[in-house]
Amino acid sequence: MNEEQTDSLGFGTRCVHAGQEQPDPATGARAPPIYQTSSYVFDDAGTAADRYALDDDGNVYSRFDNPTVSMLERRLASLENGTAAVATGSGMAALDAATSILASNGDNIVSAASIYGGTHSYFSNMATRRGVEPRYVDTLDPDAYAEAIDDNTAYVHIESIANPSLVVPDFEAVAEVAHDHGVPLFVDNTFGTPALCNPLDHGADIIWESTTKWIHGSGTTVGGVLVDGGSFPWDEYPEKFPEIGTESVAFDGTNFAADFGDQAFAVAARQRAIRSLGDGQKPFDAWVTMQGAETLALRMERHCENAMTVAEFLRDHDDVAWVNYPGLDDHEGHDIASTYLDGGYGGIVTFGLAGGYEASKRVCEETDLAQFLANIGDAKTLIIHPASTTHAQLSEEEQRASGVTPNLLRLSVGIEDPDDIVADLEQAINSAEEA
Ligand SMILES: *Cc1c(COP(=O)(O)O)cnc(C)c1O
Repeated sequence: MNEEQTDSLGFGTRCVHAGQEQPDPATGARAPPIYQTSSYVFDDAGTAADRYALDDDGNVYSRFDNPTVSMLERRLASLENGTAAVATGSGMAALDAATSILASNGDNIVSAASIYGGTHSYFSNMATRRGVEPRYVDTLDPDAYAEAIDDNTAYVHIESIANPSLVVPDFEAVAEVAHDHGVPLFVDNTFGTPALCNPLDHGADIIWESTTKWIHGSGTTVGGVLVDGGSFPWDEYPEKFPEIGTESVAFDGTNFAADFGDQAFAVAARQRAIRSLGDGQKPFDAWVTMQGAETLALRMERHCENAMTVAEFLRDHDDVAWVNYPGLDDHEGHDIASTYLDGGYGGIVTFGLAGGYEASKRVCEETDLAQFLANIGDAKTLIIHPASTTHAQLSEEEQRASGVTPNLLRLSVGIEDPDDIVADLEQAINSAEEA
């Protein structure tokens, strides 16, 4: 099947088929081949010159182009309803590639305050070293974004389901504010996944996400992706986005916006960022991730159903002080979440025990089925107590500012039988509260 044939198919079908020429035209193999090669032979000098000048899109070198990785990129571009994608060595590498293209010394990034800790650290401790200033605003207040944006804002950043508050920002309102100021909306869709949320259909211009989590789904392979929505008019703001809207400093005569149209951002991210930074996805990892993506639609249904069951169990448990899940009607973001999420409310539930810091910490030691580790989005149920682990280096005040209370437990609900997940939590909570 070719791309035109798959683009009209349903989401679950595209999870399995999109992006792969099948069967393999060279051998008839049904599975995607792993092109484990560093480089590609040029037919003649003219072709070689054209590839270096970006006039021919054939392969050059696997640091920035590889046919196995391209299959994953086409699949994820299709699932996110984008025009093109660039797969990276991790989620963080996708963030860095996009930031390298969009922001330079003197610029700022306006970001929702409620975000993944690694992203916060990248903005505050790495982007700042390059003269790029992060400005954090109230995740749910579009006016706060408007107030923070100025002429030097490179992009507005939000997460589709924010970490750890699990609120869903009003994409369309935030997109309108960003676009009124000539700024693209850049969304981390790791928690939403394209199975539940398509930010590009609600005003976002570029997606980034960690494929390490639900897209791969089994906790074996680190990866990330950038997806170009093809919607942002880079050519209208050439001074603000010189890497895309003006003649490239690295490719004589190339203006990405003029030459690559609705894929301009993706091509610039690949040829300028990934090519120079060297943090692209590797073929074996892309192959494994593509296999994981085949079951994304199915797994997300089960993750969401199980998370709802677990959230309801926790809400009714006497030793549980509070539970946070956007699928519960009393969650502060339930209505917006219902508007933008389709088919479920995600796989993460947070909760706190009445017994406070010590009891919550003990729960992680008492679970048998739920694994105590620092990851999310695995088929296996995972649990962690951020205040004593991922956020332990912050003061209690800083922890609270980032949404982490002393008794908060983060549960990434897996696809096991729901009765077993609930039974495991029940015995762990009882043992932790008794101790
Ligand atoms: C894990 C994660 C990232 C970073 O992705 P890596 O693949 O670990 O680099 C970014 N955003 C969110 C929301 C995440 O959960």
